[in-house]
Amino acid sequence: MKEDLLKILKKIISGVASSEAEKIVDLLYNKKNVNEFLIAKKLGLTINQTRNILYKLADHGLVTFVRKKDKKKGGWYIYFWTLETGKSLVKFLEKTREDIERLKNELKTRQGERFYYCPGCEIEYAEEPALLNNFTCPECGEVLELKQPEQILNSLKNEIQKLEKIQEQLKQEVQTIHSKDEKVKEKRIKGEEEEKLKERKKKAKIRKKLKAEEEKKNPKKKVLKKNKKTPKKKKKR
Ligand SMILES: [Zn+2]
Repeated sequence: MKEDLLKILKKIISGVASSEAEKIVDLLYNKKNVNEFLIAKKLGLTINQTRNILYKLADHGLVTFVRKKDKKKGGWYIYFWTLETGKSLVKFLEKTREDIERLKNELKTRQGERFYYCPGCEIEYAEEPALLNNFTCPECGEVLELKQPEQILNSLKNEIQKLEKIQEQLKQEVQTIHSKDEKVKEKRIKGEEEEKLKERKKKAKIRKKLKAEEEKKNPKKKVLKKNKKTPKKKKKR
C-alpha cells in the first residue's frame, strides 16, 4: 500500500515539476520541515534549482514551507519543506475525475458517430464524405459498409477503466489519511480535556486545603455554616 502511495505521489510531483523532482517524495515523505540544503544535496542540484522546483510544487499546494533566519550566514533565510501528502492526493483525485469525465464524453460522441469503409480498398470514410458519395467508394465505386470504430471505442473504454481503478485507489488513500488526521485531532482534544480536568482537580485540592486551614484558624465559621445548611435540608422534605 505504501509503495503504491509513493508511486502515485511521484506521478503527481513529476507531473507538476519534472521527472527529476520525483525524488523529493522519497526525501520528504513522512517527514516534516526538511532543510532545503539537504534536499539540494540529495537531488544533486544547486540550491536555486532545488528552490525553483519546490516553489513550483508550493504554488500547487503540494508542499509547504517554514523559513528561519540563518544567523551564521549573515541573516539569509533557510527554507524547511514539508510534503502535503493529503492535499496532493486530493488534487490528483480531482484531475483524475476530470480526465474520466472527458473520456466518457469522448466515448459518447464516438459512439454516436458513424463510420463507413470500403472493404475492397480498406479506406475509412466519415459520415459526411460517405453521404456526399452516395455511400459508394470514390476510389472503386463499391458500396460502403457501416463500421463502428471498435478499436478507438475499446481503447477509450480501457483508459476509462484504468483511471477509475486509480480513482478508487486514491479515494482509499485519501480516506486513510483523513481518518488518521481525525484520530490525531481526537487524541489532541482528549489530551487537552484531560489536562484541563487535572488542572481543575489540582485547584480544587488547593481550595480544600486553604479552607481546612481557614477553619482550623477560625472554628466559629464552621459552626455558622452548619447552622445555615440545616434549614435548607428541611425544606427539601
Ligand atoms: Zn473502394
